[in-house]
Amino acid sequence: MADLIVRGGTIVDGSGGEPYPADVVVSGGRIVEIGRPGPTDAAELDASGLFVAPGFIDVHSHSDYTLLVDPRAVSAVHQGVTLEVIGNCGHGCFPVRDRELARNAIYGYDEAVPLAWSGAHEYFDALERARPAVNVLSLVPNGQLRLDAVGLRQRPATRDELRDMEARLSESLEEGAWGLSTGLEYATEAGVPEEEIESLCRVVARVGGLYATHTRKRDDGAAGAVVEAVRTAERAGVRLQVSHLVPRSGLEEGERCIEVVEEAAGRGLDVAFDMHTRLFGFTYLPTALPAWALEGGPRALEQLLREPQARERMKRHESILSAGSDWGRIVLLDNDVWPQQSRRDVASISAERGQDPLDTVYDLLLEGADGMHRLMVMIHCYTEEQQLQAFTHPLCMPGSDATTLAPDGRLAGSVFHGAYTWAAWFYRFMVRQTRTLTAPDAIRRLTSLPAERLGLGERGLLRVGAFADLAIFDPETFGEVATTFAPNQLAAGMRHVVINGSLTLANGVLTGVRAGTVLRRGGGG
Ligand SMILES: [Zn+2]
Repeated sequence: MADLIVRGGTIVDGSGGEPYPADVVVSGGRIVEIGRPGPTDAAELDASGLFVAPGFIDVHSHSDYTLLVDPRAVSAVHQGVTLEVIGNCGHGCFPVRDRELARNAIYGYDEAVPLAWSGAHEYFDALERARPAVNVLSLVPNGQLRLDAVGLRQRPATRDELRDMEARLSESLEEGAWGLSTGLEYATEAGVPEEEIESLCRVVARVGGLYATHTRKRDDGAAGAVVEAVRTAERAGVRLQVSHLVPRSGLEEGERCIEVVEEAAGRGLDVAFDMHTRLFGFTYLPTALPAWALEGGPRALEQLLREPQARERMKRHESILSAGSDWGRIVLLDNDVWPQQSRRDVASISAERGQDPLDTVYDLLLEGADGMHRLMVMIHCYTEEQQLQAFTHPLCMPGSDATTLAPDGRLAGSVFHGAYTWAAWFYRFMVRQTRTLTAPDAIRRLTSLPAERLGLGERGLLRVGAFADLAIFDPETFGEVATTFAPNQLAAGMRHVVINGSLTLANGVLTGVRAGTVLRRGGGG
């Protein structure tokens, strides 16, 4: 008995092969037929004039917390996303020992949802109880492993601490996580030596998991940091995914990063990379602070920010924001601490105040000390040329590098650039605007390529027997609507989305059905 028939569409099956006209029959959450079935009693979806593709996979998501806050994943579903890979960049929700400390490595933390778990299994259960609209799977974030065992101290883990981290990692993998991620540029992981990561990667290699890394340096020296990632993976024998590979330091350095990956692939390393779709980087303002300044919590930090000597010490810290010392590249996003300075760059704000740019940053953090994570900045650092360089490469797949959001509900006021646009931009820019990728190739990079990286056999391809995750869209209009300063607008052109056989978006409107599952490694799916 069929549950649903998608009629009259053009199949783009995710393999990169030629599109062809056919109907898709869904039953029991799976695709059971692709062809020309006769009339039945099953519900039908009209797909004439539309592409019928496998649901899109966001290989680089940060929705770890926002899926608990608002499980509808509205911004994602409107782009055809049916699976999100969370736990990236060393950020995520487990393992957690000290709940206060853990917030340092979580995107989108919200007090509305109490952090009431410790390990992977408990977190996955909490996520399942929230009934997310999309499927989810997670890596083990090294930021949490570190906070759990070492705290915010910027030094290598001791032998005992490392044993502890290996045990927690192994346990998390047993409980269904798919690999390990690092965020080596962040204060939480600044003290991590290469050998420590290698030891952890050996644990991941034993179960055939994936190692995804936000490398140590993404400005000058970025290629050297990719060399380190490759060396770590080769020594540990682990499969490697370099996160948002393109550095903030220009086209040539980007070329070198890609060459390093190509050479490693040539030597036989199982490696690929992803890239977000923004022309700017994007982070929290407290990133400008050294880890030691954050160690004592908000009250102690306030104290430090008031002391001129402490400020002088802080100024010696090189951060993502200070690198290049060009504060004209750093733009403060909309915020309620200094709302009148929103959308202005730090160089002009500090010039107006007649002070050093870092003092401006410290003053801002001091005034916003009660909710520093509301202060976000944009770093202008990429060009369209760099994007083309990355996205046309055969080993590259796009990812949001954002959290899911929604224009209504609890997340309506949150901004995370890329959330509403990444897949839609990728398709419009690469296929329609620059014609640098064919539609089947662009769709392959959104579907079977990330599925292969993750070792998902039953998703990412539109074929009989696979889970019925479908993105059904108008290839002429699918594209982003949101802009830099009006970022919270749903993408256009996505008509129907089916997740695990359930109609989640119908005629561009959410049905209210949330049929996503938490995929646990080794648990099928
Ligand atoms: Zn990252």
